[in-house]
Amino acid sequence: MPVAAGLTAGVAVGVARTALLVAAARAIETHRPDALATDPLAEHFVRAAPASADWPVHPDQVPLGAADPLWGRLGRYFGLRTRALDDHLLDSVRTGVRQVVILGAGLDTRAFRLGWPPGCTVHEIDTGEVLAFKQEVLDRAGAAPVAVRRPLAVDLRDDWEQALLDSGFSPTAPTAWLAEGLLLYLPAGAERRLVATVDRLSAAGSTLAYEIKEVAESPGVRANPVYAAARERLGIDLLSLFDTRPRPDSAGELARRGWTVEVRRPYDFTVLHGRGPLPEPDDALAVNRWVFASTGSRPVR
Ligand code: SAM
Repeated sequence: MPVAAGLTAGVAVGVARTALLVAAARAIETHRPDALATDPLAEHFVRAAPASADWPVHPDQVPLGAADPLWGRLGRYFGLRTRALDDHLLDSVRTGVRQVVILGAGLDTRAFRLGWPPGCTVHEIDTGEVLAFKQEVLDRAGAAPVAVRRPLAVDLRDDWEQALLDSGFSPTAPTAWLAEGLLLYLPAGAERRLVATVDRLSAAGSTLAYEIKEVAESPGVRANPVYAAARERLGIDLLSLFDTRPRPDSAGELARRGWTVEVRRPYDFTVLHGRGPLPEPDDALAVNRWVFASTGSRPVR
Protein backbone atom coordinates (compact mmCIF):
# COMPACT_ATOMS: atom_id res chain seq x y z
CA MET A 1 0.00 0.00 0.00
CA PRO A 2 1.49 3.42 -0.92
CA VAL A 3 2.34 5.81 1.88
CA ALA A 4 -0.55 8.28 2.34
CA ALA A 5 -0.13 11.46 0.30
CA GLY A 6 -0.38 13.55 3.47
CA LEU A 7 2.80 11.92 4.74
CA THR A 8 4.81 12.16 1.53
CA ALA A 9 3.98 15.72 0.49
CA GLY A 10 6.22 17.39 3.10
CA VAL A 11 9.34 15.44 2.17
CA ALA A 12 8.94 16.32 -1.51
CA VAL A 13 9.24 20.08 -1.21
CA GLY A 14 12.01 22.59 -0.60
CA VAL A 15 15.06 21.54 1.36
CA ALA A 16 13.29 18.40 2.66
CA ARG A 17 13.60 16.87 -0.80
CA THR A 18 17.40 16.88 -0.41
CA ALA A 19 16.92 14.20 2.28
CA LEU A 20 15.58 11.90 -0.46
CA LEU A 21 18.61 12.74 -2.64
CA VAL A 22 21.02 11.67 0.09
CA ALA A 23 18.95 8.54 0.81
CA ALA A 24 19.10 7.52 -2.86
CA ALA A 25 22.87 8.05 -2.89
CA ARG A 26 23.21 5.86 0.21
CA ALA A 27 20.99 3.19 -1.36
CA ILE A 28 23.25 3.10 -4.42
CA GLU A 29 26.37 3.10 -2.24
CA THR A 30 24.99 0.15 -0.29
CA HIS A 31 25.01 -2.01 -3.41
CA ARG A 32 28.48 -1.05 -4.64
CA PRO A 33 30.95 -3.92 -4.37
CA ASP A 34 33.36 -1.49 -2.67
CA ALA A 35 30.73 0.31 -0.57
CA LEU A 36 32.06 2.89 1.86
CA ALA A 37 28.90 2.60 3.97
CA THR A 38 25.78 0.47 3.88
CA ASP A 39 22.25 1.59 4.67
CA PRO A 40 19.67 -1.08 3.84
CA LEU A 41 16.78 1.20 4.87
CA ALA A 42 17.72 3.97 2.43
CA GLU A 43 15.95 2.50 -0.58
CA HIS A 44 12.73 2.09 1.42
CA PHE A 45 12.52 5.87 1.79
CA VAL A 46 13.29 6.51 -1.87
CA ARG A 47 10.68 4.06 -3.08
CA ALA A 48 8.01 5.24 -0.62
CA ALA A 49 7.88 8.86 -1.79
CA PRO A 50 6.22 9.51 -5.17
CA ALA A 51 8.76 12.33 -5.74
CA SER A 52 11.65 9.84 -5.76
CA ALA A 53 10.00 6.50 -6.54
CA ASP A 54 11.71 6.31 -9.95
CA TRP A 55 15.15 7.49 -8.82
CA PRO A 56 17.95 4.91 -8.91
CA VAL A 57 18.71 2.87 -5.80
CA HIS A 58 21.31 0.53 -7.32
CA PRO A 59 24.47 1.12 -9.39
CA ASP A 60 22.93 -0.96 -12.21
CA GLN A 61 20.34 1.81 -12.60
CA VAL A 62 23.05 4.43 -13.26
CA PRO A 63 24.08 3.76 -16.88
CA LEU A 64 26.94 6.29 -16.87
CA GLY A 65 28.35 4.88 -13.64
CA ALA A 66 31.12 7.02 -12.12
CA ALA A 67 30.82 9.46 -15.05
CA ASP A 68 27.31 10.45 -13.95
CA PRO A 69 27.79 13.84 -12.21
CA LEU A 70 24.85 13.17 -9.92
CA TRP A 71 24.70 9.50 -8.91
CA GLY A 72 28.32 8.81 -9.82
CA ARG A 73 30.44 11.58 -8.35
CA LEU A 74 28.05 13.37 -5.96
CA GLY A 75 26.57 10.04 -4.89
CA ARG A 76 30.04 8.76 -4.04
CA TYR A 77 30.66 11.95 -2.10
CA PHE A 78 27.62 11.21 0.06
CA GLY A 79 28.88 7.65 0.56
CA LEU A 80 32.26 8.97 1.68
CA ARG A 81 30.67 11.58 3.94
CA THR A 82 28.45 8.94 5.51
CA ARG A 83 31.45 6.73 6.21
CA ALA A 84 33.60 9.52 7.65
CA LEU A 85 30.82 10.65 9.98
CA ASP A 86 29.90 7.08 10.96
CA ASP A 87 33.53 6.57 11.98
CA HIS A 88 33.57 9.88 13.83
CA LEU A 89 30.45 9.03 15.87
CA LEU A 90 31.73 5.56 16.69
CA ASP A 91 35.03 7.10 17.80
CA SER A 92 33.03 9.40 20.09
CA VAL A 93 31.19 6.52 21.76
CA ARG A 94 34.54 4.73 22.20
CA THR A 95 35.59 7.65 24.41
CA GLY A 96 32.46 7.16 26.53
CA VAL A 97 29.83 9.35 24.88
CA ARG A 98 26.35 7.80 25.11
CA GLN A 99 24.21 10.71 23.86
CA VAL A 100 24.05 11.61 20.18
CA VAL A 101 22.17 14.52 18.60
CA ILE A 102 21.71 14.52 14.83
CA LEU A 103 20.72 18.00 13.66
CA GLY A 104 18.85 18.02 10.34
CA ALA A 105 18.71 14.22 10.57
CA GLY A 106 16.55 13.79 7.49
CA LEU A 107 16.45 10.09 6.57
CA ASP A 108 19.61 9.26 8.52
CA THR A 109 19.31 5.69 9.91
CA ARG A 110 22.36 5.63 12.14
CA ALA A 111 20.16 4.82 15.14
CA PHE A 112 19.33 1.55 13.34
CA ARG A 113 22.49 0.57 11.54
CA LEU A 114 25.51 1.47 13.68
CA GLY A 115 26.87 -0.76 16.42
CA TRP A 116 25.94 1.42 19.39
CA PRO A 117 26.93 0.12 22.80
CA PRO A 118 24.18 -0.37 25.41
CA GLY A 119 22.86 2.84 26.95
CA CYS A 120 23.10 5.05 23.84
CA THR A 121 20.39 7.56 22.99
CA VAL A 122 20.14 9.12 19.54
CA HIS A 123 18.12 12.34 19.24
CA GLU A 124 17.07 13.06 15.65
CA ILE A 125 16.05 16.64 14.91
CA ASP A 126 14.29 17.67 11.72
CA THR A 127 10.98 19.12 10.62
CA GLY A 128 7.72 17.43 11.57
CA GLU A 129 6.97 16.63 7.91
CA VAL A 130 10.26 14.80 7.33
CA LEU A 131 10.08 12.92 10.64
CA ALA A 132 6.46 11.81 10.06
CA PHE A 133 7.33 10.39 6.63
CA LYS A 134 10.44 8.73 8.05
CA GLN A 135 8.50 7.10 10.90
CA GLU A 136 5.86 5.73 8.55
CA VAL A 137 8.51 4.12 6.32
CA LEU A 138 10.47 2.75 9.29
CA ASP A 139 7.30 1.24 10.75
CA ARG A 140 6.38 -0.37 7.45
CA ALA A 141 9.89 -1.83 7.16
CA GLY A 142 9.62 -3.18 10.73
CA ALA A 143 12.88 -1.41 11.57
CA ALA A 144 14.05 -1.63 15.19
CA PRO A 145 16.64 0.88 16.46
CA VAL A 146 19.86 -0.33 18.09
CA ALA A 147 19.94 2.75 20.35
CA VAL A 148 17.11 4.54 22.15
CA ARG A 149 15.80 6.84 19.43
CA ARG A 150 14.14 10.19 20.16
CA PRO A 151 12.87 12.10 17.12
CA LEU A 152 12.24 15.79 17.74
CA ALA A 153 10.32 18.01 15.33
CA VAL A 154 11.64 21.57 15.42
CA ASP A 155 12.69 24.24 12.98
CA LEU A 156 16.41 24.73 13.57
CA ARG A 157 16.11 28.38 12.58
CA ASP A 158 14.15 28.89 15.81
CA ASP A 159 15.24 28.47 19.40
CA TRP A 160 15.29 24.67 19.88
CA GLU A 161 17.23 24.35 23.15
CA GLN A 162 14.26 23.90 25.49
CA ALA A 163 12.56 21.44 23.13
CA LEU A 164 15.68 19.25 23.19
CA LEU A 165 15.88 19.43 26.98
CA ASP A 166 12.17 18.54 27.20
CA SER A 167 12.87 15.57 24.94
CA GLY A 168 15.16 14.00 27.55
CA PHE A 169 18.53 15.45 26.49
CA SER A 170 20.97 15.73 29.39
CA PRO A 171 23.31 18.76 29.33
CA THR A 172 25.54 17.16 31.98
CA ALA A 173 26.38 14.11 29.84
CA PRO A 174 28.90 14.35 26.99
CA THR A 175 27.26 14.51 23.58
CA ALA A 176 28.25 13.69 20.02
CA TRP A 177 26.59 16.33 17.83
CA LEU A 178 26.27 15.95 14.08
CA ALA A 179 25.14 18.42 11.41
CA GLU A 180 25.59 16.57 8.11
CA GLY A 181 24.36 18.41 5.02
CA LEU A 182 22.52 21.00 7.12
CA LEU A 183 24.42 24.25 7.61
CA LEU A 184 24.61 24.85 3.85
CA TYR A 185 20.88 25.58 3.95
CA LEU A 186 20.65 27.62 7.15
CA PRO A 187 20.88 31.41 7.39
CA ALA A 188 24.10 32.65 8.99
CA GLY A 189 22.23 33.79 12.11
CA ALA A 190 20.74 30.32 12.63
CA GLU A 191 24.21 28.76 12.26
CA ARG A 192 25.62 31.18 14.86
CA ARG A 193 22.78 30.35 17.29
CA LEU A 194 23.21 26.63 16.61
CA VAL A 195 26.91 26.78 17.47
CA ALA A 196 26.20 28.80 20.61
CA THR A 197 23.48 26.34 21.67
CA VAL A 198 25.67 23.31 21.03
CA ASP A 199 28.45 24.95 23.04
CA ARG A 200 26.11 25.80 25.93
CA LEU A 201 24.71 22.26 26.06
CA SER A 202 28.03 20.43 25.70
CA ALA A 203 29.55 18.82 28.77
CA ALA A 204 33.25 17.94 28.80
CA GLY A 205 34.05 15.14 26.37
CA SER A 206 31.52 16.28 23.74
CA THR A 207 32.18 16.29 20.01
CA LEU A 208 30.66 18.12 17.06
CA ALA A 209 31.01 17.29 13.38
CA TYR A 210 29.50 19.36 10.59
CA GLU A 211 29.75 20.11 6.91
CA ILE A 212 30.02 23.57 5.37
CA LYS A 213 30.85 25.26 2.13
CA GLU A 214 33.69 27.49 3.21
CA VAL A 215 32.99 30.29 0.71
CA ALA A 216 30.38 30.97 -1.95
CA GLU A 217 30.99 29.13 -5.22
CA SER A 218 32.21 30.96 -8.34
CA PRO A 219 30.00 31.28 -11.46
CA GLY A 220 32.15 28.57 -13.08
CA VAL A 221 31.43 26.16 -10.25
CA ARG A 222 27.74 27.06 -10.25
CA ALA A 223 27.71 25.97 -13.90
CA ASN A 224 29.04 22.52 -12.95
CA PRO A 225 26.77 19.87 -14.58
CA VAL A 226 25.90 18.38 -11.19
CA TYR A 227 23.68 21.34 -10.39
CA ALA A 228 21.80 21.16 -13.69
CA ALA A 229 21.43 17.38 -13.26
CA ALA A 230 19.90 17.76 -9.80
CA ARG A 231 17.57 20.49 -11.03
CA GLU A 232 16.45 18.77 -14.23
CA ARG A 233 16.37 15.14 -13.13
CA LEU A 234 15.30 15.45 -9.50
CA GLY A 235 13.59 18.82 -9.31
CA ILE A 236 16.12 19.97 -6.69
CA ASP A 237 17.63 23.39 -7.30
CA LEU A 238 20.56 23.16 -4.90
CA LEU A 239 21.90 26.55 -5.93
CA SER A 240 18.71 28.25 -4.82
CA LEU A 241 18.50 26.17 -1.62
CA PHE A 242 22.06 26.94 -0.47
CA ASP A 243 22.26 30.05 1.67
CA THR A 244 25.07 31.84 -0.17
CA ARG A 245 25.23 34.94 1.98
CA PRO A 246 28.54 35.35 3.86
CA ARG A 247 28.99 32.45 6.30
CA PRO A 248 30.01 32.76 9.93
CA ASP A 249 33.42 31.42 10.92
CA SER A 250 31.99 28.65 13.10
CA ALA A 251 35.29 26.78 13.34
CA GLY A 252 36.96 29.95 14.63
CA GLU A 253 34.07 30.59 17.02
CA LEU A 254 34.31 27.08 18.46
CA ALA A 255 38.06 27.50 18.91
CA ARG A 256 37.45 30.80 20.73
CA ARG A 257 35.00 28.94 22.99
CA GLY A 258 37.71 26.44 23.91
CA TRP A 259 36.97 23.60 21.48
CA THR A 260 39.71 21.76 19.62
CA VAL A 261 38.85 22.07 15.94
CA GLU A 262 40.06 20.25 12.86
CA VAL A 263 38.93 21.34 9.37
CA ARG A 264 39.30 18.61 6.75
CA ARG A 265 38.80 18.38 3.00
CA PRO A 266 36.64 15.49 1.77
CA TYR A 267 39.53 14.48 -0.46
CA ASP A 268 41.58 13.67 2.65
CA PHE A 269 39.09 10.84 3.19
CA THR A 270 39.23 9.72 -0.46
CA VAL A 271 42.94 9.20 0.14
CA LEU A 272 42.32 7.52 3.51
CA HIS A 273 39.85 4.99 2.09
CA GLY A 274 41.44 4.59 -1.33
CA ARG A 275 38.17 5.48 -3.06
CA GLY A 276 35.79 8.40 -3.35
CA PRO A 277 35.55 11.60 -5.41
CA LEU A 278 38.66 13.37 -6.66
CA PRO A 279 39.05 17.06 -7.57
CA GLU A 280 37.83 18.17 -11.00
CA PRO A 281 37.71 21.50 -12.88
CA ASP A 282 35.04 23.90 -11.58
CA ASP A 283 34.61 21.50 -8.72
CA ALA A 284 31.32 21.69 -6.80
CA LEU A 285 33.02 19.95 -3.88
CA ALA A 286 36.13 22.16 -3.78
CA VAL A 287 34.93 24.45 -0.98
CA ASN A 288 33.23 21.69 1.03
CA ARG A 289 34.81 21.16 4.42
CA TRP A 290 34.10 18.66 7.16
CA VAL A 291 34.77 20.09 10.59
CA PHE A 292 35.50 17.89 13.60
CA ALA A 293 35.51 19.57 16.99
CA SER A 294 35.75 18.38 20.57
CA THR A 295 35.50 20.07 23.92
CA GLY A 296 38.67 18.33 25.01
CA SER A 297 39.25 18.54 28.71
CA ARG A 298 37.34 21.67 29.58
CA PRO A 299 35.47 21.44 32.87
CA VAL A 300 31.90 20.15 33.10
CA ARG A 301 29.42 23.00 33.26
N1 SAM B 1 21.58 14.80 7.63
C1 SAM B 1 20.79 14.03 6.71
C2 SAM B 1 21.65 13.21 5.81
O1 SAM B 1 22.83 13.53 5.64
O2 SAM B 1 21.13 12.25 5.24
C3 SAM B 1 19.85 14.91 5.89
C4 SAM B 1 20.55 15.91 5.02
S1 SAM B 1 19.41 16.76 3.97
C5 SAM B 1 20.55 17.31 2.77
C6 SAM B 1 19.06 18.25 4.87
C7 SAM B 1 18.09 18.03 6.01
O3 SAM B 1 18.08 19.20 6.81
C8 SAM B 1 16.65 17.80 5.54
O4 SAM B 1 16.13 16.64 6.14
C9 SAM B 1 15.92 19.04 6.02
O5 SAM B 1 14.57 18.82 6.36
C10 SAM B 1 16.76 19.45 7.21
N2 SAM B 1 16.62 20.87 7.51
C11 SAM B 1 16.98 21.91 6.72
N3 SAM B 1 16.64 23.07 7.30
C12 SAM B 1 16.06 22.75 8.49
C13 SAM B 1 15.51 23.51 9.55
N4 SAM B 1 15.47 24.85 9.49
N5 SAM B 1 15.01 22.86 10.63
C14 SAM B 1 15.05 21.50 10.69
N6 SAM B 1 15.56 20.73 9.71
C15 SAM B 1 16.06 21.34 8.62
